[in-house]
Amino acid sequence: MVVELLSVGTELLLGSIVNTNARFLAEKCACLGLSMYSQTVVGDNGQRLKSAVETALSRSDMVILTGGLGPTEDDLTKETCAEVFGCALVEDGHTRKRIEEFFRNSIYKDIPKNNWKQAMVPQGALVLDNDNGTAPGLIMEKDEKRLILLPGPPGEMIPLFNGQVEPYLRKLKPGFLLSRMVKICGMGESQVEDALLDLIDSQTNPTIATYAKTGEVHVRVTASALDEEAAEKLIKPVVKEIKKRLGRAVYSVREEEDLETALVRLLKKHELTVATAESCTGGLLAARIVNVAGASDVFKEGFVTYSNKAKRKHLDVSKSTLKKYGAVSRETAREMAIGGAFATDSDICVSITGIAGPDGGTEEKPVGLVYMACCFKDQVAVEKYQFKGNRHKVREHAAVRALDLVRRTILENCQ
Ligand code: ATP
Ligand code: MG
Repeated sequence: MVVELLSVGTELLLGSIVNTNARFLAEKCACLGLSMYSQTVVGDNGQRLKSAVETALSRSDMVILTGGLGPTEDDLTKETCAEVFGCALVEDGHTRKRIEEFFRNSIYKDIPKNNWKQAMVPQGALVLDNDNGTAPGLIMEKDEKRLILLPGPPGEMIPLFNGQVEPYLRKLKPGFLLSRMVKICGMGESQVEDALLDLIDSQTNPTIATYAKTGEVHVRVTASALDEEAAEKLIKPVVKEIKKRLGRAVYSVREEEDLETALVRLLKKHELTVATAESCTGGLLAARIVNVAGASDVFKEGFVTYSNKAKRKHLDVSKSTLKKYGAVSRETAREMAIGGAFATDSDICVSITGIAGPDGGTEEKPVGLVYMACCFKDQVAVEKYQFKGNRHKVREHAAVRALDLVRRTILENCQ
C-alpha cells in the first residue's frame, strides 16, 4: 500500500515552523511497512490544497494530511477533502458534545462561535476523538482511496495517530509487522554496513536498514508475518547475528532506550557512581545523564571547568601539566578525570577537554580536537578524537563519545 503525506500550513512554507509532523509520520509509516514515495507541503489556500490532494490521490492509495483542521477561516483541510470526495459536511452530535465538554473544562466562559465548525464532518467519515483539542481526526474512504486528516499541533496529532490511526492501519494491512532497533555507538555507518553487508544484500524478510545519527548508527530490522509470534521468530536470529558481529558497539536493542538511558541502566546494574569533568562541552554531558529519570542513583556531581584556573581549583590539574601540554591534551584530560573521581569519591569520572571552534584552533591543535578520559578505580583510559563540523556538532559528538567511553569501560571491567 502506498501512502503519502500532505502537510498543510503557510507557516511551514515560510519556514516559521519545522515540519516535525512529517518526520514523525514518515518514520511511523516506515515501521508499519507502508511504502512512501512523496511528501508535499502546501499553504492555507483552498485551490492549491485541492490540487495537491487530487495529485496525491492520483498516485497513492492513502494520503495523511496534517494541519488546517482548526476553527478559523484559513483552516480548509476538511472542507477541501469533502469537496474532492464529493461528500457533504454534516454535524456530528458526538463531536458537538465533546466540544461543549472541552470548553466546560477550560478557562473560556463562552464557546467561540467558530468552534462549532469543528463539529461538522464529511458524511460517512470515521471520526477520531481528540482528547487534547477540539478538532477531531477524520478518516475518509472512497473507491479504495483513503484520506486521513489530523490536526496540526503535534500534541494533538501524535496521540491521535498512536491511539487510533496506527491500529486502523494495522488492520488494513493483513499480517503483523514487527520491528526492532539495534543501536550502535563507536562505529561509522559504512563500517556497520560493511560488517552486515551480506545480511543487508540478501534481505527479504526481515528487512534491514541503517540510519546514521550524531555519533551513532541505528539498524532497523523489520519482519512481516501472520502474527506477532511468527514475526518475532523471524527477527530474533537476525538481531542475534547483528549483535554477534558488532559486539560491544551495540548499546541497546530497545526502541525507546537512548545511549544515556542505557548507560544509567548499566551503572545501576553494577552499582557504580559517576561524575563528570567537562571543559568544551560545558555541562552537555552531565545534562544528558541527568535527562534520564532515576539518574540520581548513579550521578554524583558534574564540574564545568572551562578555564585553566577552574581545572586547577576543582580538579587539581597541575600547573606544570597545563603549562607543558596545554589545556587540550592527553595529560590534562587524564588529570581532570582523576581529580574529578577523587573530589567526588565516585567510582568513575569522565572528562572532556577540546577545541569546539570556530576560533582557537592551530595547526598542531585544530578545531574539533578533543581528548577525553575515564578514570575507573585506579585505571585511566584516555582517547583522542578529531571531530568534524561546527561548534555545536563538535560538542554533541564529544558528549556522545564520552557517554560511550564510560559504557565501554564498565563492560570491559565488570562482568
Ligand atoms: P489549530 O486548531 O491550532 O488551528 P490546525 O489543525 O488548524 O490546528 P494549523 O493551524 O495548521 O493546525 O497549525 C497549528 C499549529 O500546529 C502550528 O502553529 C504549529 O505549531 C503546529 N503545526 C502545524 N503543522 C505542523 C507540522 N507539520 N509540524 C509541526 N508542527 C505543526
Ligand atoms: Mg489552524
